[in-house]
Amino acid sequence: MTKVTTLARIAALAKPLSTAPSADGKSFSGVSPDECFTPDWLARDQWGYCKATNGKGGTSRGHRLAYRIFVGSIPNGMMVLHRCGNESCINPHHLYLGDAWQNARDRELHGTAKTGKSLPQTKLTTSDVSAIRDSNESCIALAKQYGMSRSYIWRVRTGAARSNKVGG
Ligand SMILES: [Zn+2]
Repeated sequence: MTKVTTLARIAALAKPLSTAPSADGKSFSGVSPDECFTPDWLARDQWGYCKATNGKGGTSRGHRLAYRIFVGSIPNGMMVLHRCGNESCINPHHLYLGDAWQNARDRELHGTAKTGKSLPQTKLTTSDVSAIRDSNESCIALAKQYGMSRSYIWRVRTGAARSNKVGG
């Protein structure tokens, strides 16, 4: 799918947001549905997602906040996905709710599927991931062994990271 086709699809689906409230004085009104909105006043996390303070003393992903502010609440277990395939985009026109399966499908569609060694912070091979999932070692021990953070090892184990099918 070409970029033009994707943008045309977004424009057709997008609801006008001219009456939407502004966030932080940085208004979304006037954000074109045809273009990704990747504000440089928001920090990026290691995955390329925008980081924003969530008003509760923590940070949230910018696109999830944008969805909550401009579209509505996010039901439990649902993910806020990008029609445009651009992780750092928080244009509410480009965001929609989906599940993990749709997320994986979208990544394939947009050619942004990142697996294995193409993940910038991932040095794990597919067999490493299998070994971690099969291991009885603690996350701390595995983190040391693989030079990864403990939380990353935990996410590998629980499938939150490297959820692509292992082996095969
Ligand atoms: Zn976008």
